Amino acid sequence: MRQVLLVRYGEVHLKGQNRPYFLRRLTENVKNAVAPLGAEAWLSDSRIYVAGMADMDEAVRRVTRVFGLHSVSPAWELDKDYKEISAKCVELAKDLKGTFKVNARRSDKRFPMNSQELNAELGGDILESNPGLRVDVHKPDHYISVEIRDRAYVYTGEIMAAGGLPLGTGGRAMLLLSGGIDSPVAGYQMMRRGVSVNAVHFFSFPYTSERAKEKVLELARIVGEYGAGMKVYVVPFTDIQLQIHEKCPDEMGTLIMRRYMMRIANIIARKDNAKALVTGESLGQVASQTIEALGCTDAVAELPVLRPLISFDKQEIIDIAERIGTYETSSLPYEDCCTVFTPRHPMTKPRVDVVARAEEALDTDALVRAAVEGTEEILM
Ligand code: ATP
Ligand code: MG
Repeated sequence: MRQVLLVRYGEVHLKGQNRPYFLRRLTENVKNAVAPLGAEAWLSDSRIYVAGMADMDEAVRRVTRVFGLHSVSPAWELDKDYKEISAKCVELAKDLKGTFKVNARRSDKRFPMNSQELNAELGGDILESNPGLRVDVHKPDHYISVEIRDRAYVYTGEIMAAGGLPLGTGGRAMLLLSGGIDSPVAGYQMMRRGVSVNAVHFFSFPYTSERAKEKVLELARIVGEYGAGMKVYVVPFTDIQLQIHEKCPDEMGTLIMRRYMMRIANIIARKDNAKALVTGESLGQVASQTIEALGCTDAVAELPVLRPLISFDKQEIIDIAERIGTYETSSLPYEDCCTVFTPRHPMTKPRVDVVARAEEALDTDALVRAAVEGTEEILM
């Protein structure tokens, strides 16, 4: 008798003809997640199984982070023998109090008892051994679940997993990663929909410090843990910011800066084979995130710009940041390139032709080329 993880998957059900591909990818991702623990994973009979790990908690922690999974149950794997199944149910119910329900499921129709009979018999055995318990089939305090498949599985708990779609099934995108709270969450949300994400960071040394860069790399490391790591392209941005500051109207400063970020991110994304850009923008959060301002930024982005947080309130973003482990690092007080050159009265309803005209004071091609050439790649 050994303990295994019984893993349920989510939306992959919906994928029609692509289903085998999604499932293969998902199973691979689970395998990779548990391989460092010496565990193996396999797909069988619409479940993924994980076995062979010494550290159950760590296996659960790793598996619940794999995108595309619905939930996980640590289960006992038994022979398909009623006595053995009943003994395990009784043992698991030994210390329970309140109400319970047996939830049996017979996938192997050759097993001599059907689900109803199993529910009734096992319920009886449990009541006999633990008279303090009562049955409640509607809202029980505890479920004791039994699944009869190629083997028999008995478990009491179900731990929710990350949901979403298997990483790698949604193509690749390039995240504009700042040191703030929003952009790491935006990257996570895209990965959760199956997209592989690398990042570009605009770095304005010495206006932003080496420590600010370390902070961004640490955020990339944390978010990258949900996938297979993250590559960060660090772009030297000081020259561009100084020139904007010097030659463009102050109230358009942030917007023009964001247009340069888009242009450069576009070029790096194409080199990285990414098919979209991702930002942490949320509608109305700041002046550069009004609909008009987003329109001005999009006007220079050739690739689609995905903004997974567009409708989120700040508190909702913070809640996710806390859950995925980026909040603390994001909250470290290092300056960001946006804050150093922030205009006092930014435009909130910019017109794209007006902004484009203001940019004519700059040698855009040369500035963009120099920034791309100076870009450093760091694998986290
Ligand atoms: P927060 O809003 O929590 O301070 P943020 O990362 O959202 O952090 P904003 O000033 O709101 O910062 O910027 C909007 C978006 O622009 C970010 O979500 C990010 O995608 C992108 N961005 C801003 N600054 C940078 C930067 N230095 N490098 C890369 N992307 C950036
Ligand atoms: Mg923001």
